[in-house]
Amino acid sequence: NRFIVIGAGILGASTAYHLAKTGAEVTVIDRKDKGQATDAAAGIVCPWISQRRNKAWYQLAKGGARFYPNLIQELENEGESNTGYARVGAISIHTDSKKLIEMEKRARKRREDAPEIGEIQLLSPSETKALFPLIADGYSSVHVSGAARVDGRALRNALLRSAERHGANIVHGDAELVLNGMKVIGAKTTDESFVGDTIIVTAGAWGSQLLKPLGVHFQVDFQKGQILHMNLKGLETDHWPVVMPPGSQYIVPFQKGKIVAGATHEKNTGFDLRVTAGSIQEILTQSLQFAPGLSNAEMIETRIGFRPFTPEFLPVLGPLPGYEGVLIANGLGASGLTMGPYLGFLLAKLALKEDIDIDLEAYSISGALGSM
Ligand code: FAD
Repeated sequence: NRFIVIGAGILGASTAYHLAKTGAEVTVIDRKDKGQATDAAAGIVCPWISQRRNKAWYQLAKGGARFYPNLIQELENEGESNTGYARVGAISIHTDSKKLIEMEKRARKRREDAPEIGEIQLLSPSETKALFPLIADGYSSVHVSGAARVDGRALRNALLRSAERHGANIVHGDAELVLNGMKVIGAKTTDESFVGDTIIVTAGAWGSQLLKPLGVHFQVDFQKGQILHMNLKGLETDHWPVVMPPGSQYIVPFQKGKIVAGATHEKNTGFDLRVTAGSIQEILTQSLQFAPGLSNAEMIETRIGFRPFTPEFLPVLGPLPGYEGVLIANGLGASGLTMGPYLGFLLAKLALKEDIDIDLEAYSISGALGSM
């Protein structure tokens, strides 16, 4: 069986790895677009305390978080020392203790069928500061020990390297689908053509462009995210937890003083790769309010990524209706680093015609198809 994966963000990279591991013949074609969501994303894996109630979303997010430890172990066993993943825990901070008590309850309820949440603890302002010294005074928190941070870029690279070790062919290029009637039989770049039995399209925010020549209106839209990378030299930040303040912003510490803060959620921007003054102001205002200790941090870079969304804000996964030989997954939105590795594993199983234990109906591609 020959497989072609178009798009190598976290989703395509995981799909390719899981396919290649079985000994299948795999070609990955990626254009390395600037604005690849995976490349900009850093990286909270903590779906359990979200207030989002959609069951279909939660099933994938929970499954995604659960999937990580084994995958990381497997990659490490294969010699990958930099997977970008660390289970450092997270603190959800607030000044309103009622809100924290509700959050703690929610987390305890969810732990009943998600033991990977780990320990859940209400922390006082001084206990919170002991875990994350840069925090403003007066913030208590709920600490969740099973949460993790992940550097999307590092994990994508580790998956692609491992796929390559298992024989995958990784090609840099702009792919188009090749059709024979209503069957997709391959893909081509400007230089080369590839024949495949199943073509898997994991093209993120660019997914609709790729399907347009088929007369298919795939309604994948995207939100631009700007995210700041800072450095606090000399601080041992390796084991600091992820910080989730009220609102949509967060602060993610990495090794050797690196702190990532963001991100914006910008609609209707088109593929605009500019770093903009208003967005930087928004990120800095919020992060310095919650963590004034960041004011002396060195500004390193701002990354831009386009988070792919479907109209229902739910991932879609499965065969493209009306066509043979093509599988699609997309719409991972703001939680794609959490779900991506797991969804890639499921997608590989689908491609191999193996059973999967989730109800695909909830993530049907038809829901994201419009008329041309
Ligand atoms: P992408 O990573 O965008 O990859 C798509 C790839 O397809 C690209 O490389 C592109 O070049 C390629 N491609 C497209 N068309 C073609 C073609 N015709 N030929 C060849 N290649 C093609 N998620 C979390 O879980 N936790 C977080 O904390 C988090 N933070 C985030 C912060 C930011 C700023 C952003 C932007 C996202 C964040 N996310 C987070 C979301 C997550 O990053 C995305 O949902 C996920 O990376 C989407 O992955 P993907 O593989 O579907 O798409």
